[in-house]
Amino acid sequence: MNPSQGLPLPDTCLPALKLYWEAARRQEFRLPRCLACKRFNWYPEPSCRGCGGGTFAWETLSGRGTLFSWAVVHRALDARLAPLQPYTVGIVQIAEDPAVRVVMRIVDTDPSTLGIGMPVRVRFEDLGYPVIQTGVIAPLCVAG
Ligand SMILES: [Zn+2]
Repeated sequence: MNPSQGLPLPDTCLPALKLYWEAARRQEFRLPRCLACKRFNWYPEPSCRGCGGGTFAWETLSGRGTLFSWAVVHRALDARLAPLQPYTVGIVQIAEDPAVRVVMRIVDTDPSTLGIGMPVRVRFEDLGYPVIQTGVIAPLCVAG
């Protein structure tokens, strides 16, 4: 059987996100930043939302942030995610710029303890953590 057990996986070779996934494999949390105006370009677009520039550098970030919002998924719309149920998905504001929000799965944290604005940090695990080994290392999120 496929090691991912049918879990839908991201295309880690997609040009816009290839460096994101390569960094995650090295346990680095990196996002692209516009060289002209210094705004983060997340989710990556060909042109900067701030100045229209098209040159970016991928910057290694602290992996720290605050929780903007979250949802506990008890029944996923995609049945292939059932082995992970229930799981929690959060929107995290990165410490370097709270206007930048990244969607991450929250792991090893009791959802009843979550609160808006609480500190969180990235932890690198297999995307199927803790039940499935997919071979894709992803930035997940824990409290703290
Ligand atoms: Zn810019």
